[in-house]
Amino acid sequence: MATDGNLDGTLFGAMLREFEEAARILSLERGIWRILTSPKRQITVSCPVQMDNGEIIVFTGYRVQYNVTLGPAKGGIRYHPGVTLDEVTTLAAWMTWKCAVAHIPFGGGKGGVICDPSVMSRRELEALTRRYIAEIIDAIGPEKDVPAPDVNTNEQTMAWIMDTYSMHVGHTETAVVTGKPLELGGSLGRREATGRGVMIMARESARHVGFDIKGAKVGVQGFGNVGSVSADLLAKAGARIVAVSDWKGGVYNAKGLDVPALLDYAGRNRTVQGFAGGEPLTNDGLFKLELDVLIPAALENQITMANVADIRARVIVEGANGPTTPDANDQLYKRGIFVVPDILANSGGVTASYFEWVQDRHGYFWTEQEVNERLEAKIVQAFDAVRQTSIDFKVDMRTAAYIVAIKRVADVTRVRGMYA
Ligand code: NAD
Repeated sequence: MATDGNLDGTLFGAMLREFEEAARILSLERGIWRILTSPKRQITVSCPVQMDNGEIIVFTGYRVQYNVTLGPAKGGIRYHPGVTLDEVTTLAAWMTWKCAVAHIPFGGGKGGVICDPSVMSRRELEALTRRYIAEIIDAIGPEKDVPAPDVNTNEQTMAWIMDTYSMHVGHTETAVVTGKPLELGGSLGRREATGRGVMIMARESARHVGFDIKGAKVGVQGFGNVGSVSADLLAKAGARIVAVSDWKGGVYNAKGLDVPALLDYAGRNRTVQGFAGGEPLTNDGLFKLELDVLIPAALENQITMANVADIRARVIVEGANGPTTPDANDQLYKRGIFVVPDILANSGGVTASYFEWVQDRHGYFWTEQEVNERLEAKIVQAFDAVRQTSIDFKVDMRTAAYIVAIKRVADVTRVRGMYA
């Protein structure tokens, strides 16, 4: 699929553009190139579910294991009406590169079911989850493929998956999914791990660029899981969180926002808009501020050719997946803005998932401090490897992250050799 046909305008085509630049610099041989641009396994299943009104609806589900050279496939499952095989395949490819950059023994996977969870009851969602997992049961497992939450799936969904899998294999198997509730084999520190990783990346970037994170001016777009934890931990590290925005609007305070009070406000009002401790701000306004660190932590395609010229940050840490378009990324590089790319910047989440899987397989659980210390070590190592590669190859951090990832998967592919 990957290298045949016209991929212009597809999400997979966009991923290939990033891949190819790094592969060319590495002078990757044609055969390995073909392997790394071909999804290993794409599964499509039909999932009949009896709805609450008695009607039977057949939902389409996908699970893609893009590359499993380094270990079991790892990646979330999303429930959304817009899920396509192209999207799931591309997200699985990105997971392959993200796990390789994070240097954890996982390949890349992703799943999706075409459905609209906002109009489904809890019972219908449970029935759909159990049937979808039953349909792909032979392909998943702690040694094969380890799903996790993504858009519109959560800890409860993971609990149903773990239970369905355990019923099929005849014993309790917690390591089949991550992102589980704590009482069911989840890991301490996982909820905060992506934001913690973003905080560490911002701190290390500041050191690299030549300023102190203490007192640095930070703006954060998005105040959900990633944005709020990043803001909170950066404030605790001494940074000044001057601006925050979400889907409704934003808030600005040149002296630094009171983040604990903002967390409390956002928890009660489901938005940061209207917070009394600062002036109102738009999302566009946030991107125009003079900042030391800008953290897009909301959605994809936020920094584009339409607004890239306005950006006056010294460092950008991509908490969200795909917040910068490729053309805008080139502009940022030309202007000397230091960008930590998504596959590196938000890899704290999948690293903590790896820790959850390790703890489940050992049946021995770490303290929150142990999780955080091990996360810190992995994140700093990943940042240093990519930074050094960007210096060695004279490329931006995004291309460097792809070089590190592709090289790791390619090296293991070569050493393992060709089975047949
Ligand atoms: P979330 O749903 O908890 O929060 C999203 C935030 O973005 C909310 O504050 C929302 O109001 C805001 N938002 C939505 N639309 C917006 C808009 N048009 N303008 C400004 N703000 C808007 O999601 P999350 O888990 O924090 O994920 C955020 C991003 O990080 C996504 O791209 C996700 O894929 C990525 N990511 C998350 C994790 C994780 O562990 N949660 C891991 C890796 C990557």
